[in-house]
Amino acid sequence: MDYALNPYSGCAHGCVYCYAPEVTHAEWGGWRIPKAKMNIARRLALELPNIEGVIGIGTVTDPYQPVESELELTLQCLKVLKDRGFRIHMHTKSDLILRDIGLLSEMDGTIGITVTGIEERESKMTEPGAPMPSRRLEAIRELVDAGIDVYALVGPVLNHLEGREDAFVDAVADTGVKLIYMDSLNSRPLLSERLARMRFRGSPSAERRINESAEAAGIEVRPVFR
Ligand code: SF4
Repeated sequence: MDYALNPYSGCAHGCVYCYAPEVTHAEWGGWRIPKAKMNIARRLALELPNIEGVIGIGTVTDPYQPVESELELTLQCLKVLKDRGFRIHMHTKSDLILRDIGLLSEMDGTIGITVTGIEERESKMTEPGAPMPSRRLEAIRELVDAGIDVYALVGPVLNHLEGREDAFVDAVADTGVKLIYMDSLNSRPLLSERLARMRFRGSPSAERRINESAEAAGIEVRPVFR
């Protein structure tokens, strides 16, 4: 990615392991209330003639958080980028991306969908505003079937996956995806305190087991953000 495009600041997915508030010096409570950059598509159209390279979308906040279904700022940006022939690299943990699958299938780009487990209970605790894992896995499946370049972003790997690594990898493999980018917990002071209160922590042993299981399933695993 050569540029970062985030149509929203703040993110209603509210993941307990999110370190973006610490990076952007935002308060955790305020972070969970998204602010929309209403003129972003217009500004993007003005700036594109002066740049070239891959546009990263969703580098700090999720471009398909719930407010996007109403405001369509990400969709507006995608249309501008498609018209100018830009390559994109986009991250999300929402199946709202399927709304734009037709457009994405006509663009040059790579999509990462985050999955951190398969259990709804843990997902509700760790990613309370995000779609359940089953919907994200279905989104990966539909993107694969549409011929879009997609990978599963598995991270952070937390201790609730211990003992369930093989079932998790089976569910990911079922989507047809052939690449996992795996991320360890990025432990920053406030974030670690929050997770410790909930008895969550990073799990190197789960990472190792996912690696082995994915390799056996014919899925390539690469580290990310390292
Ligand atoms: S989806 Fe990403 S940006 Fe949004 S709260 Fe979760 S980790 Fe943070």
